[in-house]
Amino acid sequence: MSRRVDVLVVGGGIHGAGCAQAAAAAGHSVLLLEQRALGAGSSSRSSKLIHGGLRYLESGQWRLVRECLHERRTLLRLAPELVTLRRFHIPLYDGMRRSAWQLRTGLAMYWALAGFERDARFGTVPRRQWEQLDGLHRDGLQQVFWYHDAQTDDRLLTEAVMRSAQSLGAELRMPAEFVGAELRGAEIIARWRENGREETCAARVLINAAGPWAASVARSLTPSIDVPQLDLVQGTHLILDRPASERLYYVESPRDGRAVFVLPWHEHTMIGTTEVKFSGDPSTVHPSAREMKYLLGVYRHYFGRHGHPLPHVLEAFAGLRVLPAGSGHAFHRSRETLLLPERAQRPRVLSIYGGKLTTWRAVAQRAQEMLAASLPVRAARARTDQLPLRPE
Ligand SMILES: Cc1cc2nc3c(=O)[nH]c(=O)nc-3n(C[C@H](O)[C@H](O)[C@H](O)COP(=O)(O)OP(=O)(O)OC[C@H]3O[C@@H](n4cnc5c(N)ncnc54)[C@H](O)[C@@H]3O)c2cc1C
Repeated sequence: MSRRVDVLVVGGGIHGAGCAQAAAAAGHSVLLLEQRALGAGSSSRSSKLIHGGLRYLESGQWRLVRECLHERRTLLRLAPELVTLRRFHIPLYDGMRRSAWQLRTGLAMYWALAGFERDARFGTVPRRQWEQLDGLHRDGLQQVFWYHDAQTDDRLLTEAVMRSAQSLGAELRMPAEFVGAELRGAEIIARWRENGREETCAARVLINAAGPWAASVARSLTPSIDVPQLDLVQGTHLILDRPASERLYYVESPRDGRAVFVLPWHEHTMIGTTEVKFSGDPSTVHPSAREMKYLLGVYRHYFGRHGHPLPHVLEAFAGLRVLPAGSGHAFHRSRETLLLPERAQRPRVLSIYGGKLTTWRAVAQRAQEMLAASLPVRAARARTDQLPLRPE
């Protein structure tokens, strides 16, 4: 075998780039294979928020919220040009599911979990300023809360993390499609297609960071490894021809109470997202007419009154969440990342299922720790919580 690496990473989304960075920072030789482009999967189709996940408090996901808020703080420090703290608004109307005191309590807990940071405070918009809220309808409006979370460009962030990995010696092959691997003793023999040829290399460990394709990557290994029961859940966003506002909104769909974000995106307004169970080839995911109608309905409900013309959709895109299989609504399922080694002792394969853009660095660090026993000790080159991330 001509080529040998410590760590082979499959997938150039945020998790693959993050794992490549963490492994290279720990001093390992790293090769990452991406079949299309960096961030081509879910990591360019997210809501683009680096957030604690305010609504996860309701489902008791405290550990996740605390970790997300910690990562938000770290990314604001490491990537100030890519991750910015923004003011979000939550309008509260008569007859809504949550009361003002419930919202206030939730926001206070969120602020406490963020360590009572001065610039992550929350409050309410005085009634005399409601007319400045981008045409938000005011019939039955009781209060408008504001709080802070961060926004990013998910694709640029993924590219910046990969550049950081490369600066530490990681190698990127793209487009390069992983096709399978054999687990032989303490070694893995991996195969991929690149420039019409099949290439191979030996690796000590393989990190399966193929996002919605992770189950099919896991199934391409011999001998076979366990693949958990998963659901793919499609989420669509629309870019509307409305000028971007400085304000971001967190509203409740009048139809089913789901949280929907209305956000500035470059010079326009973005709205999302939906949650629709998906089956089939992840490459074929696309926004449906039904999802577009749903999101336009939410937009019109909050911003389409007072004689405002109806918005036009400039662009629509869909991505896939990987969630633990279940019968309940996707909205209420755990958003924790599942890190699954193929065996308990000295794992050779680690698969990453699901997760959040926000926690990529912590997840990559955890992956590195889980694989440490399978890798030689090398001289560390850096710490990922000290590595600045910049747009090109
Ligand atoms: C609609 C939606 C909104 C979201 N909003 C947010 C948010 O606002 N904030 C947040 O924190 N999280 C959010 N998330 C979650 C977040 O986007 C994902 O958890 C994250 O992007 C997953 O990254 P990943 O690297 O695991 O997967 P991906 O980004 O999908 O990357 C997998 C990569 O693997 C490559 N690949 C697949 N198979 C192969 C192969 N055989 N060979 C080589 N390469 C291969 C693919 O091309 C792809 O680039 C959202 C998710 C969705 C779907």
